[in-house]
Amino acid sequence: MSVATLDIKITKVEKSRIDQVDQSNIQFGKVYSDHMFIAIYENGVWQQPEIKPYANLSLSPATTFMHYGQAIFEGVKAYKDPQGNPIVFRPYDNWRRFNRSAERMAMPSVPEDIFIEGIRQLVDLDRAWVPGAEQTSLYIRPFMVALDEFIGVRPAERFMFMIITSPAGPYYSKPVSIYVHDKYVRAFPGGIGFTKAAGNYGMSMYPTQKVKEMGYDQILWTDGFEHKYVQEIGTMNVFFVLGDTVITPDLTRETILEGVTRDSVITLLREKGVKVEERRLSIDEISAAYDNGQLKEAFGTGTAASIAPIRSLTYHDKTMELPPVEQWENATWLKKELAEIRYGRKADTHNWILHV
Ligand SMILES: *Cc1c(COP(=O)(O)O)cnc(C)c1O
Repeated sequence: MSVATLDIKITKVEKSRIDQVDQSNIQFGKVYSDHMFIAIYENGVWQQPEIKPYANLSLSPATTFMHYGQAIFEGVKAYKDPQGNPIVFRPYDNWRRFNRSAERMAMPSVPEDIFIEGIRQLVDLDRAWVPGAEQTSLYIRPFMVALDEFIGVRPAERFMFMIITSPAGPYYSKPVSIYVHDKYVRAFPGGIGFTKAAGNYGMSMYPTQKVKEMGYDQILWTDGFEHKYVQEIGTMNVFFVLGDTVITPDLTRETILEGVTRDSVITLLREKGVKVEERRLSIDEISAAYDNGQLKEAFGTGTAASIAPIRSLTYHDKTMELPPVEQWENATWLKKELAEIRYGRKADTHNWILHV
């Protein structure tokens, strides 16, 4: 894949801060790469984008997103391929999703060249920041906020689109314990559950904190009406293997975030000949399968963790323990297969890789 070159004004740092990164112990999100990308939308058009040294912003306290949460983001990763070049996994899918979020939040859509070429040129310039060790990556965070200096309530007219990046270390996904919640709700039809809006994260912190206090790692969100149909775990999509069928909630009803990892998992499993169903799945069906010895695997999917196996599932006073992960067929294979593709070690037969 390649894109036309966008005219970006580039100001380089005088001295790189790369030596601040401890390559043997990369702390995710602690250090940001030398440069950042920024584009302003005003008077109905996107102004010339810039790449400049990463720095603090100066904003009016009346800036509208700080008050009303007109803010969206994405999460993308760049990996080092066997030749040592950075490659980006499925950024066009993030771009399309970003614009679905933008539309729902009454924000302007970001043109393909600004989003994709912005990522490409930023990663190219900061290519030394893409770590090389196994399981490491450069996390890419595109985001957009409403910039009007106005605390009256109305959709804004000025917006800022930015991209920042941060090296990410190996992600050790110890199987997680899950609490199935039947009080707090993440998403409901007509809401913003299908968007990557900042508010979705803000509202999930309290319920997640409560579940952690109870001794669990993460929350399994259920529907807002009957509290029995599963949606997602924490900020990941969720898959259950019942018998020989892999099941994940379908994307209708606007309550599920359309994960790029989710789609990759479905695609890879179907190509392998595994039966995958996207449909409504109730906690009662999972519970019945567990009683019959048919609950084989359960895992979350997302850009950060890739595949996150679930150790146990607690619903009311019943705790369902999953079989040991070593016995799982699908999750283990998927994790390996995804890594092979993401690190460019396997032919990119799906056109998922953007070469920087
Ligand atoms: C980002 C996100 C995911 C995972 O999406 P990926 O594209 O696979 O990273 C899943 N659920 C929620 C709520 C998310 O915000």
